[in-house]
Amino acid sequence: MTTVVEQESATAAVPQGANREGLIFEHSKKGRRGYRLPALDVPERSDLLSPSLMRDEIANEVEVSEVDVIRHFTRLSKLNVSIDAGLYPLGSCTMKHNPRLNEELARTPGFALSHPLQADHQVQGNLELLWHIEQTLKEIFGMPRVTLQPVAGAHGELTGILMIHKALAKSGNARKFILIPDSAHGTNPASAAFAGYEVKELKSNSRGTLDLHLLEQHVDEDVAALMITVPNTLGVFETEIRKMAEILHRKGAYLYCDGANLNAFVGIARPGDMGIDLIHSNLHKTFSTPHGGGGPGAGPVGVSERLVPFLPTPTVERRDDGSFYLDDDHPDSIGRMRAFNGNFNVLVRALTYMRSMGPDGLRRIAQIAVLNANYIRARLKGTYHLPYDAPSLHEVVFSDKNQTPHEVHTLDIAKRLMDYGFHPPTIYFPLIVAGALMIEPTESEPKEELDAFCDAMLAIARECEERPELVRSAPHTTPVRRLDEARAARQPVLRWQPRSD
Ligand SMILES: *Cc1c(COP(=O)(O)O)cnc(C)c1O
Repeated sequence: MTTVVEQESATAAVPQGANREGLIFEHSKKGRRGYRLPALDVPERSDLLSPSLMRDEIANEVEVSEVDVIRHFTRLSKLNVSIDAGLYPLGSCTMKHNPRLNEELARTPGFALSHPLQADHQVQGNLELLWHIEQTLKEIFGMPRVTLQPVAGAHGELTGILMIHKALAKSGNARKFILIPDSAHGTNPASAAFAGYEVKELKSNSRGTLDLHLLEQHVDEDVAALMITVPNTLGVFETEIRKMAEILHRKGAYLYCDGANLNAFVGIARPGDMGIDLIHSNLHKTFSTPHGGGGPGAGPVGVSERLVPFLPTPTVERRDDGSFYLDDDHPDSIGRMRAFNGNFNVLVRALTYMRSMGPDGLRRIAQIAVLNANYIRARLKGTYHLPYDAPSLHEVVFSDKNQTPHEVHTLDIAKRLMDYGFHPPTIYFPLIVAGALMIEPTESEPKEELDAFCDAMLAIARECEERPELVRSAPHTTPVRRLDEARAARQPVLRWQPRSD
């Protein structure tokens, strides 16, 4: 039996024949060509190659014309959802506009074509760039030194925890536990476990933050560090960071800050001033590098004075005469975390972004990111349930509590947003909110785009009441409907095979 909704979408929304994507192989027609080779103008020789290397038959390749190829790939490219087409409010991922100036600079031949094995004196410009980005991040973090080696946020976390481990081991006891609040990003416990620690989870309070007395109960001489995400995954700022640092430092433990989403407070507050011992930030988020699809990224880590000896090697140093060199002479270093100098091209983009924004521009990023998230919060509050009423920073977390009485859930709302032309927000994360919808608009969205998104969310809330079936069966306008995402990830079909018939 087909439902009313299915009939409606088949006829009105997606007429037959509208989706002509197919596979390039399926467009193949015998004899079609997209090229013309010039006539042979040298003597034909068949004795130059051994017969065993020669084909007997022309391979069964796809035969298409230029127009077939162009239309095929242009249609495929339109299936990509990207920040270049509209708001992409994936919470905690900071999908913001990537200024094209970054790309231009990263393609400068001196940067793009240099080889990682060139001698220091041949790549002084590259080393100077690395040195400048460290100086800039030192200023932003309020930390004495920063390593640029880690190539992702999670890689920065691992680097940081390995430094803590080495520092503690040197003083005689590497300790056993890392404390992590339940509002932390999911990579935190994974990185701590990967570095060999056991993770103890701390429950956050009704305001979505960590209670000091709970921390105090858990910190002892077996605890290596507390890892806090700032702002946490509810978009809420921990207000008692300095006191947390004091509690930890009294017992010889460290305070690690996941600052992946530094766009919430860059230029406004400095982690080093709060007593934080280590912070990583995701340059591919806050400092703008295209990162949909998984990379490449950069997750530099800033450290306080007592962790400087443990930084990865080599470090980039400047001599008195102004020249630069790579320095391996750090006997307590945790060693290399990455071949060569990290993801150099991401670092070029990030420095371009920092320099083109300037200090005032960077502060403005944080102000507008917070303003935009709170604008969405104000427009949707009441219609969508706000599980934590504490003021939020760069993102806002709603739940589907007001929609579940109509038997419509977060997943349905997310799918329906696609029909309205928006990428869905992060859903069912953070785990401490049932049916979470985690929305991060970022600072690069104009008010009209925020309004269009809010209008869509409000229209969907009305549909949940009046036509819940329409939302439950969404999306209706996409080439494929709901997929078995777990199976697609575990058993991906990546190679075309001709049909046997
Ligand atoms: C994105 C993110 C991470 C992980 O960063 P990757 O570069 O994907 O490894 C860690 N913590 C927070 C808060 C994040 O938003």
